[in-house]
Amino acid sequence: MAISLHGDAINTDRLKAALSSYHPNPDMDLVDRAFEYADEHHREQFRKSGEPYITHPLAVAEILAELKLDEASICTGLLHDTVEDTDATTEELATIFGTDVSLLVDGVTKLAQIEFSTREEKMAENFRKMLVAMAKDIRVLLVKLADRLHNMRTMASMREDKQLRIASETLDIYAPLANRLGIGWLKMELEDLSFRYKEPEAYRHLADKLGQTRSEREGFIESVTERLQRELSERGVENFTVSGRPKHFFSIYKKMVAKKIPFEEVHDLIAFRIITDSVRSCYEIFGYIHEIWRPVMRRVKDYIGMPKPNGYRSLHTTVIGPQAHRIEIQIRTDFMHHVAEDGIAAHWKYKESGGSTERAEVDGEGFAWLRQLMDWQRELEDPTDFLDSVRFDLFVDEVFVFTPNGDVFELPRGATPIDFAFSIHSDVGMRCSGAKVNGRIVPLRYRFKSGDTCEIITSKNQKPNKAWLEFVKSSKARTKIRAYLRKVERERSREIGLELVDREMRRFGLSLQKTLKDVGTLAAQFKEGKYPSDDDVLSAVGYGRLNPQQVVEGLIPEEARAQSNERSTETTKESGTLNKIFENVSKRSTSAVKLEGIENILVHYARCCSPIKGDDIVGFVSRGRGLVVHRSDCDRVLTLEPERRIHVTWDAETDVQNAVTLRVITSDRPGMLSDLTGAFSKNGVNIQQADCRVLKEGHAVNTFVCGIRNTAQVRQLEKALLGIDGVFEVRREGRA
Ligand code: MN
Repeated sequence: MAISLHGDAINTDRLKAALSSYHPNPDMDLVDRAFEYADEHHREQFRKSGEPYITHPLAVAEILAELKLDEASICTGLLHDTVEDTDATTEELATIFGTDVSLLVDGVTKLAQIEFSTREEKMAENFRKMLVAMAKDIRVLLVKLADRLHNMRTMASMREDKQLRIASETLDIYAPLANRLGIGWLKMELEDLSFRYKEPEAYRHLADKLGQTRSEREGFIESVTERLQRELSERGVENFTVSGRPKHFFSIYKKMVAKKIPFEEVHDLIAFRIITDSVRSCYEIFGYIHEIWRPVMRRVKDYIGMPKPNGYRSLHTTVIGPQAHRIEIQIRTDFMHHVAEDGIAAHWKYKESGGSTERAEVDGEGFAWLRQLMDWQRELEDPTDFLDSVRFDLFVDEVFVFTPNGDVFELPRGATPIDFAFSIHSDVGMRCSGAKVNGRIVPLRYRFKSGDTCEIITSKNQKPNKAWLEFVKSSKARTKIRAYLRKVERERSREIGLELVDREMRRFGLSLQKTLKDVGTLAAQFKEGKYPSDDDVLSAVGYGRLNPQQVVEGLIPEEARAQSNERSTETTKESGTLNKIFENVSKRSTSAVKLEGIENILVHYARCCSPIKGDDIVGFVSRGRGLVVHRSDCDRVLTLEPERRIHVTWDAETDVQNAVTLRVITSDRPGMLSDLTGAFSKNGVNIQQADCRVLKEGHAVNTFVCGIRNTAQVRQLEKALLGIDGVFEVRREGRA
């Protein structure tokens, strides 16, 4: 066994003791094996200080145990430099220690490869990378912080320029990170260590001053502590402790710099802390302190009522204390104290299950931490295309996409702006009509790269469509789009079903609305559960799954049907659902096709015959597509089931423009095409598509797809075309 320079045995005793202090049944064997593996691999290596290298990973693991992390994190601490500095591989680690450990080591190794530059924008760039990494497993970040802390603690034997660089980086990146994770002690220690190397003179000056005034200060702390203990006990406060200590160096230094004052003029050097057992008692003590000493205006802070974003809770007040010294007093409960010290680590929970202990995820507040980190990076300079130059592929199955505000969303690889829109909010997804990525308009099928910033453009009239299903990746988007399409389909089918049932009724001189007042519901006549509501019955008819005759026959017995004309309708049972449907239907925007009895129905025009206004038409109830309108002379009509056929007419009031295909057979002469197109434009007809071919025998076939309003217009156009010299025939496609 190795011995450190100080003569200590290098082993896992202390580490294991720390681990068992908070972990109900730790896997000590795993810890021992990780230690032995690291020890073996780092055997020939020494730190700058001359210590065996293994002292470093061991110390990192001990810091992680201080943060009360799980065995996987502790093993990661022990193994964190093996892949980078020895012949160990992540594959080997996975085999020996499992994938949890190997993934964490891999994450730490990759973080280590990122060069932090002190230049502002580079820094922000890397922050984001870290955030991206963090969003996946915060333990990687905690191991990194522990690594940095130990390196800072042992930096004395390093070259000066290296010390300076590492100190700056720690102050700029790691200390704020520890703060955002709420780990107060870690943040303060990192700050003080950085300060020591970055501003060695100022640090020494401050240390001297604090040293010189030490006994004086200790006397002061003692007298204030005693006074507080006595006064609070006299007021009946129980279960509290009072302590006082100088604030950390860096915060004193910051105050001197900010206020441009010498050390002697910094009055609130000491922070007193009162820890009690309940929130109620915190507020009580708070009040009593203001009885004892006068508070300084504007220095009273209630972080219990309004916790800091990193979870910190406490009451703060500054009072004019003995000898007219300002003193700051913090009041909090045991639990708040625990959180203030350990931060995110205070939220790890260990629970036993079936003999093995799992690390439970951080509780609900875990997400608040993450959110806070996002807010933090928002404050920074905004580097563009931050991931374009360096690929950061810690997590290959996800992409991270930012909103213009800097919120980050995790999406599956290959995700598109539609996925992103749905992950922001369902309503945003439903109305997503376009997207800008990194400031440029992109198609909705654009595939994100990690680090893209995406702005979603919405429009009131936009609705999800079927084509979206071909490219969306996230299950949320898929589910929402499907649900929407099903709903639309169902509504359409219900309207069609309503029409069909009503028509069937009218054959017996009855109306559906009236009949329903008598019998109550349509659904009741069917086997229980088959069609839970009238809507279901009507949709089934609309979809073509249920025959309208079946519905009507079941509803009215044979003999009743015969006398139905004389039948009185005294009973007035409510048929709320159907009345609602009638209302909805009439509210609908107008359509060019009318069904007898119902206006404003949604229709599709059959592609095979492209009916236009004025043509004789017929409607068919299709499976799932609602009402499809064909021309009466369309060949397809003969192949469709006659039961699905319904009578429809054009609505004289409403205009509609449908696509019509015209085939024009002409001679092949110069200027023919321009004469043809001239005839279209003279008749106000817009050509959507044109295809012109010359045949062998000197004939040309010109096919035009154009927008036509009605049969009168198409007849006029046909006449104009036939009037052109060399036009032999004009044929509207789709006619039988
Ligand atoms: Mn290290």
